[in-house]
Amino acid sequence: MNMDFEKKLAIPMEVKEMYPISAKLSGIVEKRNVELKEILSGKSDKLILIIGPCSADNEDSMIDYLTRLRKVYDKVSDRLFIIPRVYTNKPRTTGEGYKGMLHQPDPNDKPDLFKGIIAIRELHMRALSETGFSCADEMLYPENNKYLDDVLGYVAIGARSVENQQHRLTASGLDVPVGMKNPTSGDFGVMMNAIFAAQHGHTFIYRGWQAHSFGNPYTHAILRGYMNKHGQPLPNYHYEDLIRLCDFYDEMNLQNPAAIIDCNHANSGKMFMEQIRISKEVILNRRYNSRIRSLVKGVMIESYIEDGAQNVGEGTYGKSITDPCLGWAKSEKLIYEIADMV
Ligand code: PEP
Ligand code: MN
Repeated sequence: MNMDFEKKLAIPMEVKEMYPISAKLSGIVEKRNVELKEILSGKSDKLILIIGPCSADNEDSMIDYLTRLRKVYDKVSDRLFIIPRVYTNKPRTTGEGYKGMLHQPDPNDKPDLFKGIIAIRELHMRALSETGFSCADEMLYPENNKYLDDVLGYVAIGARSVENQQHRLTASGLDVPVGMKNPTSGDFGVMMNAIFAAQHGHTFIYRGWQAHSFGNPYTHAILRGYMNKHGQPLPNYHYEDLIRLCDFYDEMNLQNPAAIIDCNHANSGKMFMEQIRISKEVILNRRYNSRIRSLVKGVMIESYIEDGAQNVGEGTYGKSITDPCLGWAKSEKLIYEIADMV
């Protein structure tokens, strides 16, 4: 093979022994998991709000963000179920650029995966112990899920991974709800097949084991917009798109039909301010049509402390170094407005 094996890394069991979570904290994870499943199964009609930065690039600003978010959540938790985005590994379109805290615990320094594994576990644990949030992360590398499976509140499979068999089979063995994004091409069929695959049990290789999964009935859709053949971003959050998704679900006989609308990425064309309008438009469409209301169970917003994005190394506190985000003041206002609309 044309690579160096630089360092043997600790396995998930060893990392969990070094950084265990208490019974109290696993109780919080479990309680939130139950509440989320009640929303996805239609027993509760709270709206899910998955909100936070594109990438969790810095522990201090992340904890600062989550602390602010918690205060808002306490005022809207009768109507919204908030899951913070704590995304610790980032898919890159060309492989270039910042790959997330897992790779680079310090974005200005070279990759250090051992430190990265510890850093992402500590960040998710601090989120839980200091703010009571079990958070969302993207499962970019399925074999890494066990480093965090006891602390996560939600798992997303990204647009570039959703057609991959290992992601689908691993999702079928998780106890936490998994959102399958539409692929960058926009094909709903790929996303629906991913949901079907993950809702059923499979026998496969996982971390050196023959493993058998039992299927994850809470796997659902996330619409994130798509790219056309000219490389232009096009939305898929409009009324007609949501009806089309209802029709797909009607044909497929899946458990717990549900969709989250990602208001950034190709839906906003990364014009982060548009997330305000898009999230409200989606909520209005829910009010207008009962099929949409029962299918669309939440929205996703990329939000951080400062508006927009910067290059790695520019060093503005709380400003995204990946996709542009809605700043805190606007995010806080939007959360209250969303809560008033549902
Ligand atoms: C993200 O959520 O930041 C992301 C990379 O999303 P997608 O997979 O839809 O591009
Ligand atoms: Mn993003």
